[in-house]
Amino acid sequence: MSEERDIVVVGGGICGLATALALHRKGIQSLVLERSEMLRATGAAIIMQPNGWRALDQLGVASKLRKTANAIESGRFVTITDGKQEPIPLGGEVRCLRRMDLINVLAEDLPSNSIRFGSRVVSVELDPITSRPLLHLDDGGTIKAKVVIGCDGVNSVVASIVGLNKTGLYSIYVTRGFTRYENVHGLGNEFVVMSRDGLQLGWLPVDDHLVYWFVTRKWTSPDSRVMLAKDPMLLKSSIVKAMNDFPTDAIRMVSDSDLSTVQYTELRYRPPWEILRRSFWKGTIVVAGDAMHAMAPFLAQGGAASLEDAVVLARCLAEKIKLADDVDRGPRETSLSFEKSAVKEAFEKYSKERRARVFWLTMETFFIGSILGSSSGIIKLIVVLFTIILFSDKIGHTRYDCGRL
Ligand SMILES: Cc1cc2nc3c(=O)[nH]c(=O)nc-3n(C[C@H](O)[C@H](O)[C@H](O)COP(=O)(O)OP(=O)(O)OC[C@H]3O[C@@H](n4cnc5c(N)ncnc54)[C@H](O)[C@@H]3O)c2cc1C
Repeated sequence: MSEERDIVVVGGGICGLATALALHRKGIQSLVLERSEMLRATGAAIIMQPNGWRALDQLGVASKLRKTANAIESGRFVTITDGKQEPIPLGGEVRCLRRMDLINVLAEDLPSNSIRFGSRVVSVELDPITSRPLLHLDDGGTIKAKVVIGCDGVNSVVASIVGLNKTGLYSIYVTRGFTRYENVHGLGNEFVVMSRDGLQLGWLPVDDHLVYWFVTRKWTSPDSRVMLAKDPMLLKSSIVKAMNDFPTDAIRMVSDSDLSTVQYTELRYRPPWEILRRSFWKGTIVVAGDAMHAMAPFLAQGGAASLEDAVVLARCLAEKIKLADDVDRGPRETSLSFEKSAVKEAFEKYSKERRARVFWLTMETFFIGSILGSSSGIIKLIVVLFTIILFSDKIGHTRYDCGRL
């Protein structure tokens, strides 16, 4: 089976759905190809900070999502060994969203048949004759597209064709999950992080009964990685065991969590120097979201940055490919120009706008990852010094505004 399409978005995660929605809001239709059989979200919840809310406002879904999660009012960092407490600055609207709420809200406003499930892209190439993208699917079908947007996450197949390398792997993993309290949890609307040696536990309430928690730890051995990834019960019990000197309520939060939500995640990243030097597009193929800028969740910004990508990319594409078509359809109608030069101008503008933003985000997370993951005291000290110099404004990353759609 071979078919032709104007714009194909590969991946129906946060970025793919947000991009399709942003294009739809600009009057441009696209087809999202998602390998799963239905909408899905990896990980229980996602922290949304002020820059993410600005993007969600532009996508027209922020007000719906505000109803699903409490506003976080304060943050606190606790060092277990000496009991020292420091405030965590928040810098504006912060909420912890159920990932599925975000995914559903982004998909809800798309026209029917915008998402094709069970459709895995195995490779993408530029047709040698037309130099248009050609997508090969796992069912043997092909799609000739005028534009391809790769939103297929950290192991993107689209990223390689634009010239990006495989993402790197940190020696740190995250376990996350939900704990539901039958009565009101009584934790307040507070974001808390507790830290001891190589283990950090953070939690935020989603609403008065549901709490999202995450634990960051270094790997121990390759064997234990495989076992922990496979067995949520073992994963949970190994964390609870390692938290022996944490407050009882914190231990209970993890041990009472809903096992079906407990998940092991290894952290991948695209190095900041690659973000600085490499192209994000080739011909009429471009990448966005984790495919472009996979970063560890130390700033909780990967998802929000993906929403920003969606807004900026749709704005740039709409500006360059929408033409007034007075002759055929009357002055109010528009047609789309998929001339390679128009798409190229759109991608150049998008890359220019996003490069600086995602460079600084990946740089800051890379520094934090090096501090958490490195076993060398000297390296840690050097990176801490650079972090203090370059990122003295701890909430600087939340001030970004992706602008109007
Ligand atoms: C532990 C952890 C915690 C995080 N916490 C936060 C947070 O609090 N706040 C925040 O803003 N960000 C957070 N992030 C980052 C955030 O989850 C990601 O940046 C975000 O999910 C990226 O969205 P995406 O759509 O680019 O990729 P993904 O969410 O990975 O979606 C990719 C989609 O593409 C599909 N797909 C993949 N390959 C193919 C293919 N070949 N063909 C068709 N479909 C394909 C997948 O099935 C998936 O649906 C966190 C990340 C991790 C790992």
